Amino acid sequence: MSVLRLAIPSPLRRLFDYLPPIGMDESSVAALRPGQRLSVPFGSRRVTAYLVAVSGGSELPRAALKHAEALLDAEPLVPPTLVQLCDWAARYYHHPPGEVFGAAFPRPLREGKQHQPAGVPGWRLTTRGMGLPPGALARSPRQAEALALLQATSAVSNTRLRERGITAAVLRELGAKELVEKCTLPRPPMAPIGRPGLALNPEQSTVLAGLLAAREGFSCHLLEGVTGAGKTEIYLQLIADCLARGRQALVLIPEIGLTPQTLDRFNQRFAARIVVLHSGLGEAERYRSWEAARDGSAHIVIGTRSAVFTPLRSPGLIIVDEEHDGSYKQQDGFRYSARDVAVKRGQLEACPVLLGSATPSLESLHNVALGRYQLHRLRQRAGASVLPTISAIDLRRQELQAGLSGALLAAIDSKLAARQQVLLFLNRRGYAPTLQCHDCGWVAECLACDARLTVHRRPARLRCHHCGAIHTLPRECPSCHSGALLTAGLGTEQTEDFLRRRFDRWPVFRVDSDSMQARHAMSNLVTEINRGEPGILLGTQMLTKGHHFPAVGLVAVIDADALLFSADFRGEERMAQLLTQVAGRAGRAEQPGEVVLQTHYPDHPAVQAMLNVDYSAQARTMLAGRQAAGMPPAGQLVILRTDCGDAAQGDKFLQAVRDRAQPALPAGARLIGPLPSPMQRRAGKFRSQLILLAPDRRAAQLAADILVAEAESVPVRRGLKWSVDVDPQDLY
Ligand code: ADP
Ligand code: ZN
Ligand code: ZN
Repeated sequence: MSVLRLAIPSPLRRLFDYLPPIGMDESSVAALRPGQRLSVPFGSRRVTAYLVAVSGGSELPRAALKHAEALLDAEPLVPPTLVQLCDWAARYYHHPPGEVFGAAFPRPLREGKQHQPAGVPGWRLTTRGMGLPPGALARSPRQAEALALLQATSAVSNTRLRERGITAAVLRELGAKELVEKCTLPRPPMAPIGRPGLALNPEQSTVLAGLLAAREGFSCHLLEGVTGAGKTEIYLQLIADCLARGRQALVLIPEIGLTPQTLDRFNQRFAARIVVLHSGLGEAERYRSWEAARDGSAHIVIGTRSAVFTPLRSPGLIIVDEEHDGSYKQQDGFRYSARDVAVKRGQLEACPVLLGSATPSLESLHNVALGRYQLHRLRQRAGASVLPTISAIDLRRQELQAGLSGALLAAIDSKLAARQQVLLFLNRRGYAPTLQCHDCGWVAECLACDARLTVHRRPARLRCHHCGAIHTLPRECPSCHSGALLTAGLGTEQTEDFLRRRFDRWPVFRVDSDSMQARHAMSNLVTEINRGEPGILLGTQMLTKGHHFPAVGLVAVIDADALLFSADFRGEERMAQLLTQVAGRAGRAEQPGEVVLQTHYPDHPAVQAMLNVDYSAQARTMLAGRQAAGMPPAGQLVILRTDCGDAAQGDKFLQAVRDRAQPALPAGARLIGPLPSPMQRRAGKFRSQLILLAPDRRAAQLAADILVAEAESVPVRRGLKWSVDVDPQDLY
């Protein structure tokens, strides 16, 4: 008996066994291959399932198995490597396989629609037509001519048929005799052309040579290079080599906002088919990109996180740019890390993977230390540009205006006078983070979260940045009815107002997720800034992500202290990355840039490390610290989280899981909790967590298997949701 093992969209973390569709003969069953879609009955619904394997039997009795309804694809639409990748990811992240497979298909295919190959329309012989001897249909010369052409080259495009004088009418006549049928031909391959790259400096040449030496087979590389070191130039030259060998390149970038910039640079270098994949695309465009990647007509695929699951016909290289970026980790639903999946994918596809960053993650540095990744370094900026100088402004006892010290204001004046641009970094949007009553001390808090409401002025609102709640701005204190409501703290809107007044001769651009809502807002702004006219850019971390601002002569971090004290174990790493990335925006052209940090703690080790501009040394110290504490990347974390309207239920559930799992845990694995999450209440739900800390990946996986199995067997009260997060980004 043949049993189909299927991934099915359902919340259950396992595959489902089905019998082949009724009436499918043995040889057709034997020809089934992983990745083919089937429609199957599931509960009261009909759903799209993905074939993972055909096995000789099932743990269930035959009578308990249902038949699949229909096979949807004559051939798998995705290569076997992608099926293996999805299967691996479902196991590793303990996520329902059906949802993981869904990530590899565009929506119409997930919904069971027929696959529409891209390409050019044409005609081909039917089986019946193939059976005709050459020279048949002699009584109808036009039909005979068409038939001869098709017999010579199995399928012919409409264009070519027309060129040969064969009309649609003739083809329809042949079609009526069931001798020919319509078909879609693959797009004629276009040879990609790479324009010559820049002449590399000696450091870059060494790196490129090292990478080219490893171009066949799997290997993983970390390119650590200061901002402006010419990492992208290395990517481009490596891709040129990949294309020249007839292979495709997959390039992952962290942000949608970066695509226009990246795309421009790639288009300038290659006359090749480059497609993009990100969540901002319409469904049709997405499908086209996916199809081009799949059928091999796209040479370069550029995309954000989810693009790591795009099928590729002949992958030759995978690049993950800004590999340290937190956005590679999906924070809800299928909680995967696209960077880590990319490395696994390289292994399965037998092609090299290149991770690049000015501020590599401790995970990747750890893998270098273990000899799993090869390290390549670029220590200097490419071309004429030099690294910025960094200094601190001691804020103690200074008078501040909208958070800016006199020394910073003077520095801004002089840069603007010298017709340079200034970039101010303030990682807090809105007008002020707190609204408070001056008479009774009341503070505006979110009703649904353990958090304060942020004051916004344009439009005037109180907003919760955690659950999205919006309230009108009160005129008087709801508690004592006093009219003396004051804001405390500083957000970008407030600093923007001040800057517009103080520097009224110059343009001020605010960049945060509120001001950059419109579709092309960010790329329009980047274009505007790169005209190079003097002005002030004020923004949140949105500004720090990979954009190039060559005319910026001064970068200032308005509130470095806000970054210093984080409860999370990754806080220090994030701060160092953020500050280094912000600083990296300065002085990218010929003029040396200047970076200043405003702080009340000029002697803090993290500030000191920044002043020495040495992320690399700092990262290695932090890594030693994590090792000593047994925290990632040395130790491994898995978190089981609950989310429930009733605080006690979550803890009770996690305690039950803990009690059952504890005796079976592998050596060295420890459970911590149940504990309330750092922000316990969010959007009206109470959140708790059970943290698993294991000494290595194998133990973490074993323990996670046990935790998940127990969680699935503990009875769950209505309204309680639980989830598992393997390699969590933070403890929230
Ligand atoms: P990164 O990606 O490391 O930030 P880029 O590749 O964007 O660096 O390079 C920074 C700037 O230096 C770009 O303007 C790029 O054109 C230029 N550049 C890179 N390599 C060279 C080189 N070998 N010679 C001259 N200019 C270069
Ligand atoms: Zn009051
Ligand atoms: Zn809220």
